[in-house]
Amino acid sequence: MKMRAVFLDRDGVLNKSNGRPPNTPEELDLLPRVAEAISKLKEADFLIFVVTNQGGVGLGYMTKKALDEIHNRLILEVESGGGVIDEIKACIHKPRAGCMCRKPKPGMIFELAKKYNVDLSKSYMIGDREPDIDAGEAANLKTIFIGTKLDAPKNADHVERDLWEATKWILEQSYDETKLSEHLNYLEE
Ligand SMILES: [Mg+2]
Ligand SMILES: [Zn+2]
Repeated sequence: MKMRAVFLDRDGVLNKSNGRPPNTPEELDLLPRVAEAISKLKEADFLIFVVTNQGGVGLGYMTKKALDEIHNRLILEVESGGGVIDEIKACIHKPRAGCMCRKPKPGMIFELAKKYNVDLSKSYMIGDREPDIDAGEAANLKTIFIGTKLDAPKNADHVERDLWEATKWILEQSYDETKLSEHLNYLEE
């Protein structure tokens, strides 16, 4: 059976960024209720992926090793709050390298979807910048912009102020879907 998934941008969605993403594990500062949100999504059987542009590695501002250490820390902090991240994918190419993985290209999403047998049409992309929403749209995901309605790209399907609120919205939606299919099965019997 195909799985549903939530694809998460990293900076500004999972951790504080303020224009300056963490360069070391010590600088990683999770936003409120992030681990709790991920644990709720897991309970509802979503796979959890992080897809992040980290062009600073390609540009030489940060080593791949430092990035891996930050991501190990992220995984552990989410786990200690009861959540699970199934996989983190990072595009470490230079921003203008023309690779297929850097958002707004949907390469990282497609790669994960293939590996984990994901039903993209029942899955979500959550991000705080236009390239996140564009990548999600290109992959046929439902997109949720984290921020204000004023700042939201026009093609975002939905807007919430943080991951916790976005999670509640996803769970309401998928709850309705489950109820509906139960109802249809009942009618067929
Ligand atoms: Mg971001
Ligand atoms: Zn790339």
